[in-house]
Formats: sequence, structure tokens, C-alpha cells
Amino acid sequence: MIHHTAVIPGEKTAPRKKRDIDKYHQARGFEILCFGSVYHMAYHYLILPNGKVQAGRPERCEGAHAEGYNSYLGISVVGDFSSEDNPTGKKGPTKPSDKQIAALIQLCRRLQHRYNIPLQHIVRHSDISSTKCPGNEFPFRAVLHQLELPGGVESRSR
Ligand SMILES: [Zn+2]
Repeated sequence: MIHHTAVIPGEKTAPRKKRDIDKYHQARGFEILCFGSVYHMAYHYLILPNGKVQAGRPERCEGAHAEGYNSYLGISVVGDFSSEDNPTGKKGPTKPSDKQIAALIQLCRRLQHRYNIPLQHIVRHSDISSTKCPGNEFPFRAVLHQLELPGGVESRSR
């Protein structure tokens, strides 16, 4: 399930690093104890503006990113891509960077391969809940289109 981080309440712009989200999710009580460790970050992965992928909670631990769907792996792209919330880019980029999209596609391919996830199970938060997340400027169709194309993990890892 794909999310954007949006802007943490009380902040002016989208978070820049994992620590900010971790603190926010800790404050919201998203904490879990999983296999002997405590995690706050609700998502399994975070994709920074520079395309770097950071691990949140481990894949084998339940998420806290979408009620009723926390068995789904949660990936959050850092930024606020709602043209309603962030119309002029005051809260950071209005669209994900090319590097973020490239990283997302690569990550999705890897997870699809690892867990045998069909394309139709790659969803936006807004597909299952009444939320704007990950924003109307998020190019979901283009991402799905890329994922439909052949190539990816199988050919790259050999
Ligand atoms: Zn979301």
C-alpha cells in the first residue's frame, strides 16, 4: 500500500528524515513490540526525496498505516502530493521526484517477487479508505504501468 507522508501536524513542510516520522508515530502511539524490538514507524518503508529507501518496521511485523489493511506492506513516499493541501509547493515538492518513483518501482518489484504479490494488490491508501493519501498528484497510473512492463528483479538479480 502506497502512502505519502504529508506534513506532520505542527510542521511547515514535509518531513525530511525517518527520525521525524518515527517521533510523530511514537507520539501517536503506533508503537509495537515485534520479535523483541520496539518500532514506532507505522510503515515498512520510507522513500526519501533523494530516492533513498529506508526501512521502517520489518516486513514480518504488522504495520500501523491503514486500519484493516495492516497486513499489507506499507510504503510511504516523503512529501505532500495533494494539490489541495500543498497547491504551490510551500510544503515541499508537489510531486514525487523521479528518483522517488524509480526507487518505488524497484521496491515494489522486489516485494512482488518476494511475496508473489499480484499487480492488483498494489494499492493506494485512498483506494481502501477515505483519505487523500498519497495525493492526487501522485502518478499512480504511471507506476502501475511501469510495473506491468517486463524486466525487474528476476532479470536483474542473475
Ligand atoms: Zn496513507
